[in-house]
Amino acid sequence: MRTGLESRLEVMSLGVLNSAEATRFRTIGPQHIGEVAARYGLPADALEAVRAVSQVLPFRVNDYVLSTLVDWHRIPEDPLFQLVFPQRGMLKPDDERKLIELSGRRGTRREIAAEVSRIRAELNPHPSGQKQLNVPELAGTELPGMQHKYRETVLYFPQQGQTCHAYCTYCFRWAQFIGDADLRFAAPGPELLVRYLRGHPAVSDVLITGGDPMVMSTERLRSHLEPILAVDTVQTIRIGTKSVAYWPHRFVTDADADDVLRLFEQVVASGRNLAVMAHFSHPRELETDIARKALARIRATGALIYCQAPLIAHVNDDPRVWADMWRAELAAGAVPYYMFVERDTGPRHYFEVPLATGLEIFRTAYRTLPGLARTVRGPVMSATPGKVMVEGVEDTPRGRLFQLRMLQARDPELVGRPFRARFSSTAAWLDQLELDPSAPADIAAAITGAIGAQKPALSGTTH
Ligand code: SF4
Repeated sequence: MRTGLESRLEVMSLGVLNSAEATRFRTIGPQHIGEVAARYGLPADALEAVRAVSQVLPFRVNDYVLSTLVDWHRIPEDPLFQLVFPQRGMLKPDDERKLIELSGRRGTRREIAAEVSRIRAELNPHPSGQKQLNVPELAGTELPGMQHKYRETVLYFPQQGQTCHAYCTYCFRWAQFIGDADLRFAAPGPELLVRYLRGHPAVSDVLITGGDPMVMSTERLRSHLEPILAVDTVQTIRIGTKSVAYWPHRFVTDADADDVLRLFEQVVASGRNLAVMAHFSHPRELETDIARKALARIRATGALIYCQAPLIAHVNDDPRVWADMWRAELAAGAVPYYMFVERDTGPRHYFEVPLATGLEIFRTAYRTLPGLARTVRGPVMSATPGKVMVEGVEDTPRGRLFQLRMLQARDPELVGRPFRARFSSTAAWLDQLELDPSAPADIAAAITGAIGAQKPALSGTTH
């Protein structure tokens, strides 16, 4: 019996792509969907769904993702197909019907745009108050393209890094990619960041994120990175990226692949930690020779690789998938780091997994791991007050409770502290939980918003 990788390689060997095409980066978006359908045999129903949903939510793939990662023998259920192709069910049925209708009867551009904006506004484009709560200020002026939520870490969104090599259907930063400047985080250059860092020496970590900063050329990335290295108090540079999954050529065959590795070496030689925060959603992304080669080349620079991803229905809601992925990460010398909970934005109803199910999936997978892979934590919600981990379930005289812990918090006093909430088999986010009366007052206040409603001195989130 052929493995999934073998059947995908067969698609390649049928001449769908020649090797030059497969290593030349080309973005493929909604305007190319007819070409993709003809090339790979996309069924009419799936094609209609992509056309409708991609008017609202971003859609982008590339030849590597299409020819090597997606298993075309298994669509539409294939997890990698679900990962990158908009699906029927991601929008409310009425919204999808209206869009199909408008497009079919050739609604005016204005009618379609109004409908698209209305649907987008209902999808909570900036979860966890990111636009209000996490934007740092200098002399009373808000700094664009930055977030500061946790004392030690500032997030930096370089303007030229606000796209990705392909887009994940579940992306919680989808609002970055729809061409609306009001919804976008983007810093034109590092000058204000550097001034801010010099005034905040407690910030030891800068997370360069997006989008995906690795879409930038090496020289562009250097222009953002080098000024940060001039700030002595910065000890760790993190780069949030899914490029190893979606375009590993960035580190192997791209024209400036070697240059980017030299840049990584330069960061390490400056005495800083360089942490590549790699986003892998499925073990298949780690199976290919070129992905393995990319990881080995990154490691050889002295950079550390930490792996994280959300738990997503239709993509990776299976303990075997996580166990295989964490093992593959460990085998590649990377550190399994976080299993996140899908955030409260976008088509979340399609992708969400209840916390109780997520905990079961995490534990089932975790139990099978060798000790060195048990660095991973989850399921974790990156919520308004901070990162909240679901640790367990306990039966008490008051009934069944969730055991939770503040892994990270706006208020450093809350970090590491446990609390409880009433068990629910359906709750999928913090705001759907009822806190147990035993929850400490400061944690309860932070969670119910009494603290979070004020503009905090600190604010952020991670990719
Ligand atoms: S790589 Fe990250 S930022 Fe880009 S689409 Fe996927 S989740 Fe969103």
